[in-house]
Amino acid sequence: MPEFLQQLNDAQREAVLSTDGPNLVIAGAGSGKTRVLTYRIAYLLSGNAAPWNILALTFTNKAAAEMKERIASLVGRERASRLWMGTFHSIFLRILRAEHERTGYPSNFTIYDTGDSKSLIKSILNEMGIKEKEYRPGLVLSKISSAKNNLILPNAYARDQKRLMSDAASKVPRVHEIYARYMKECYKAGAMDFDDLLLNTNILFRDHPDVLAKYCNLFKYILVDEYQDTNMSQYLIIRKLAEPDRNITVVGDDAQSIYGFRGAKIENILNFRNDYPDYKLFKLEQNYRSTQTIVNAANSIISNNKGQIRKQVFSVNEEGEKIRILQAYSDVEEGYLIANDIVARKGGDEASFNDYAILYRTNAQSRIFEESFRKAGIPYRIYGGLSFYQRKEIKDLLAYLRMAINPRDGEALKRIINYPARGIGKTTLDRLEATAVHNDITIWEVLNHPGISALGFNSGTLRKLGAFTGIIKGFVAKSGELDAYNMTTEILATSGLLKELQSDTSTEGRARFENVDEMLNAVREFCDARKEAGEPASLTDYLAEVSLMTDQDNENEAESEKVTLMTIHSAKGLEFPYVYIVGIEEGTFPSPMSGSNMQELEEERRLFYVAVTRAEKRVTLSYARSRFKNGEFNFVNPSRFLREIDQSYLSIEEKSAFGGSGMREQSQARKPLFNFSDRPTEPSRPKFSSSFSNTVSGSSSEGGRFTDSKFSEFDRISVGCKVEHERFGLGEVIALEGQAPDTKAHVRFENAGTKQLLLKFAKLKIL
Ligand code: ATP
Ligand code: MG
Repeated sequence: MPEFLQQLNDAQREAVLSTDGPNLVIAGAGSGKTRVLTYRIAYLLSGNAAPWNILALTFTNKAAAEMKERIASLVGRERASRLWMGTFHSIFLRILRAEHERTGYPSNFTIYDTGDSKSLIKSILNEMGIKEKEYRPGLVLSKISSAKNNLILPNAYARDQKRLMSDAASKVPRVHEIYARYMKECYKAGAMDFDDLLLNTNILFRDHPDVLAKYCNLFKYILVDEYQDTNMSQYLIIRKLAEPDRNITVVGDDAQSIYGFRGAKIENILNFRNDYPDYKLFKLEQNYRSTQTIVNAANSIISNNKGQIRKQVFSVNEEGEKIRILQAYSDVEEGYLIANDIVARKGGDEASFNDYAILYRTNAQSRIFEESFRKAGIPYRIYGGLSFYQRKEIKDLLAYLRMAINPRDGEALKRIINYPARGIGKTTLDRLEATAVHNDITIWEVLNHPGISALGFNSGTLRKLGAFTGIIKGFVAKSGELDAYNMTTEILATSGLLKELQSDTSTEGRARFENVDEMLNAVREFCDARKEAGEPASLTDYLAEVSLMTDQDNENEAESEKVTLMTIHSAKGLEFPYVYIVGIEEGTFPSPMSGSNMQELEEERRLFYVAVTRAEKRVTLSYARSRFKNGEFNFVNPSRFLREIDQSYLSIEEKSAFGGSGMREQSQARKPLFNFSDRPTEPSRPKFSSSFSNTVSGSSSEGGRFTDSKFSEFDRISVGCKVEHERFGLGEVIALEGQAPDTKAHVRFENAGTKQLLLKFAKLKIL
């Protein structure tokens, strides 16, 4: 038995050692479920199992990466290197690409994010003569998503009385028609949305038993974390794959099922015993994460739910501090109270900002904390919300990258056909789109069809369209040769995007420019890492990775110490020493949606349980007596959840303007708190110090045109020059290629090999 199994308790070890047959681990938060999966994989690898025979499905990419890291530390990087480990979406994307010939999709199919999907729905509504106001695209999309996750295709939807009645009740009776068109358009565009990745895997396995057999054979061991939050579509994929060998281990906690609103089925975990009657059940009861007080308080919360599997969870860690409740006058004061609290405590023996997390029910609540933290000088990282990859300038660039690998991608095309402006107006685009719809082809095909000249466009427009098509064709041709980084720099320069960004010298414009620069860094890092690992670094590979980033994965500055701000949903599976759960008020948490619906209220309560059980040492709960919401200032009541916690674990601190502690004095000193005009509104601006900055700052007077003066620094570069690169270190220029501004230098670095660098992007210092 490998030594490392000593790091488990008896129950955990038993679960790890039961390698054959179906295993179910049901256990409360912090009891080592994820640890069991991790050690189980390490154990299999230390025996005879090959890493590629193991399929491990996690809820986030981050969880997969952490697990991989841990396994590598237990059995060595080599052994752990070719595991099939990742989220459902990333694993099945990989399989769908490999088997694309069976699905009729191109191997380079692109992925539509929610924004793309909504925009496609808008176009469809438009064609159908329906007003957007009547059919909110978000509502339509969630109905389509729910159908897909229950494997209901458009034809079945049109016969599904329950769905039709629900649509009629929501005054959107034509969703089934929109759904059919939406599917067709995505297919034509060679694009899949997130739900399609699961749906199409199911269809692939259903229609091609030989493909299914191949993967059944490959995956000798299947492991699933957070099983309680799988939806129907995911559940069926796992079941099919597990069928022949039945070597499946799932871990979960019914008390932490929090994605019901997105179609997750808590029943999947409850039905495991019916699916695999010969299953073995493992219960883990000891919580290693939290203090006794936190575990006991969490147990008292969840005991209010009727629908649950009763389980024991105990901790033998120290008893720990009581759960603190902070009350604030207003939402703004809540922000200040917590900022002050962190500053005061961090000054004590609580060393790192990394140890603190602020958890909230909805993304919008983050703003108050961002502002108070900025004022207090507390560094923070924020997950979710408008993530990096959702920013306009990044989406524009991504749309170009998508076009380079799949020009049939209609949403990408519409985004960039006239960005930067090339005189292709809305009327032209509408006509192109109508022609595409009428002939059942894509806009790209219309653009390339000889019949385009008969569509009534004037010669100027035809020329502009021709020029656009030419640019994209150039990218498509190059995407086979260049790696993701070189493709991205090529696209930035040739598309006109770079010029466009350079021409905006406002603060916002610079921030956008810097974001694009940051993305370029990300692409470069991706390419370097892939090449280092001997893996492909094409644009297709890069886009696959970016499309599958989840809220939790937007972390690109992990080095520095920061307080984490995130929704409770994103915090699943994570742990922090000190957790603040904020906005514990009726109408915020539980959310107003849950109203009097018992099931939804129980899901909210599970969410509260998840939040409390993230903490290792201390939980602080806070609520405000008034909150600015939907443009109105409202008085609000503390949440019923506060009353549900066993009072013996609570300490109510009179720290607000109601009370009388030192903290109170501080809050009184900040009198203008209640003056709403005083709300800080200026958003933070990243420091402008990009690799583009020399070119940008000089560009205002020249309207962003490339001129030699901007590259004068580089005129001095010649073959034989010694240079220094921020990342690759010292090197020597061995060749120069191309004309300014597109001059490329071949540099032989002392420690990084020879690289080809576009001078306008490379951070080269001449020595
Ligand atoms: P959640 O339900 O929140 O996902 P979990 O059941 O997956 O929790 P883990 O994250 O695996 O729990 O474990 C919680 C913490 O306890 C981790 O820090 C883990 O390393 C630690 N832990 C679990 N088991 C042991 C053990 N036997 N010895 C020491 N530490 C342990
Ligand atoms: Mg876990």
